[in-house]
Amino acid sequence: STPRLLGPAEIRDLAALLDVTPTKRLGQNFVHDANTVRRIVQTAGVQRGETVLEIGPGLGSLTLGLLEAGASVTAVEIDRRLAEQLPHTVRVMQPGTQLTVVCDDALRVTALPGEAPSRLVANLPYNVSVPVLLHLLEHFPSLTSGIVMVQAEVGHRLAAEAGSKVYGAPSVKAAWYGTWRIAGQVSRMVFWPVPNVDSVLVGFERGVEPGTEAERRATFAIVDAAFQQRRKMLRQSLSAVLGGSSATATAVLGRAGVDPQSRGEQLQVGDFLAIARAAAAPVG
Ligand code: SAM
Repeated sequence: STPRLLGPAEIRDLAALLDVTPTKRLGQNFVHDANTVRRIVQTAGVQRGETVLEIGPGLGSLTLGLLEAGASVTAVEIDRRLAEQLPHTVRVMQPGTQLTVVCDDALRVTALPGEAPSRLVANLPYNVSVPVLLHLLEHFPSLTSGIVMVQAEVGHRLAAEAGSKVYGAPSVKAAWYGTWRIAGQVSRMVFWPVPNVDSVLVGFERGVEPGTEAERRATFAIVDAAFQQRRKMLRQSLSAVLGGSSATATAVLGRAGVDPQSRGEQLQVGDFLAIARAAAAPVG
């Protein structure tokens, strides 16, 4: 009988059929292990009938797992050959399931056809995983949770707490939208071609954003400045964004209740927001 998920043979045959040479530029590493796919779908807690957004379906490994679990899938794929093949693969391997394919750059989509997705489940292209996540969280408020597979180093950054060695701008920005956790490890051997990094599954649950959209932009600019010079004290690293001198920066930081001699890696997202608010407030 026809298999319902892609194994090594199906991946090989599909790649040959499409004459696909996976490109590094698009982070094309395809999962050829059904157990890994089922584990991701299970970890994500996908519910029958819910609408799942998948970014970068590729040859369809994860897409078929999501459809098997009864999800209705909206998949955004930038590579036209892959986007065009996917409905055919699904029709043969899992007829009668609900798939919508959008051929576009996930960094640019701001609207999707059909029902608003409640969950994100994706094996993200490595080089753009953080910008893609932040873009989706900003533009699709219906996404309340998700599981994504990313490079291990990036996953640990997303889930990092203030004060940890890997805590950085992505950690603070991710925390703006909710809470993040490492949900599992994935061996590089489940991919074709085999990448030279290991992967992790990262889970997120959306929370209430701590500020307005204007405040978010101002906060993110301050976060970027603080981590561009992460070894420096905030009164120095933030001098340009907070009025142009270390004296003006010290004054703003004082009003925000943040020690001007501390460093970005010690602050939570709420502290950065307090700085943005202090910078925007008229000085009386
Ligand atoms: N989901 C498949 C799997 O698990 O086998 C493929 C995952 S592969 C790591 C990443 C996929 O994202 C590729 O199919 C690639 O073409 C696609 N991709 C890369 N950049 C993209 C972008 N900016 N927008 C949408 N898709 C993108």
